[in-house]
Amino acid sequence: MGTLDGYSVLVTGGGSGIGEACAAALLADGAAVTICGRSADRLDAAAARLGRAVARVAADVTVEAAMEAAVAQAAEHGGGRLDAVVGNAGGSLHMGPLVMADLDAVRATVELNVLGAFVTLKCAAPLLAESGRGSYVGVSSHAGRDTFRFLGAYGAGKAGMDHLLRVFADELGPSGVRVNTVLPGVIATELMVAITDGGPVLDSYLAEIPLGRVGEPEDVAALVRFLVGPESGWITGQAISVDGGQSLRKGADYGAFAQGVYGADPRWRLVAGS
Ligand code: NDP
Repeated sequence: MGTLDGYSVLVTGGGSGIGEACAAALLADGAAVTICGRSADRLDAAAARLGRAVARVAADVTVEAAMEAAVAQAAEHGGGRLDAVVGNAGGSLHMGPLVMADLDAVRATVELNVLGAFVTLKCAAPLLAESGRGSYVGVSSHAGRDTFRFLGAYGAGKAGMDHLLRVFADELGPSGVRVNTVLPGVIATELMVAITDGGPVLDSYLAEIPLGRVGEPEDVAALVRFLVGPESGWITGQAISVDGGQSLRKGADYGAFAQGVYGADPRWRLVAGS
């Protein structure tokens, strides 16, 4: 028995990383879960790791007919209902200065993140409304709120997705469907291994994260689980950061000055990180 017994949830991009962790958290609480992605092999491997009765459907989130079929299959697995969708499929097909960016790479990145969310929720909305407790949780990014140099197409895609989902939240509220997004900071998934293994980009992240560590997929999954379930029943249209506090930091660091004045006080260690 779990607190999501009777829930049916579709997780896009559920074959790896954050999506797989979301699927695991939802399964652990008793939901019937369907994972979706383009690669059937990847979904099979994830299902083997998840080790429970997870359903799989190969579909591209940017293709409407495929997502209509994926949503129908998720409902079938859930006994005829669909209560929630975790719109996690996304990513970047571009990295570099915008002024040198290839149009097709920018277009594909915006298409994946903006149109992927649009198509997924458009297809799922009728069943989410029917459920009476429908929830859509988009996986966005801190990069959609603040500027990340050389990830401009991705940031624009996530910002566009966030706005689109806020409008969906407003339009679907009368049907009882809630729509929220989570904004992860740097998360240790396979996609990010070149960064999280160490080096100057990781250092640039850690310097700005008050909680002083990289996030784990489970950190994001816990928030997604909350937004799927009844505990968040009066929350909609929100974008919630799960980033160790990275989004707090935009101002200058007066630490060098403050240390000169307060550094001898034993309480200094509470803010010094050592
Ligand atoms: P992964 O690359 O592991 O996850 C992306 C998943 O989406 C894959 O399983 C992939 O499977 C699937 N996917 C990609 N394109 C499509 C598509 N067109 N249709 C259907 N499925 C698709 O990365 P993460 O787990 O790290 O990222 C998951 C989400 O979290 C993404 O939206 C990402 O932007 C976001 N995020 C990640 C952060 C991080 O630090 N890791 C930080 C902030 C946000 P397949 O290739 O088989 O289709």
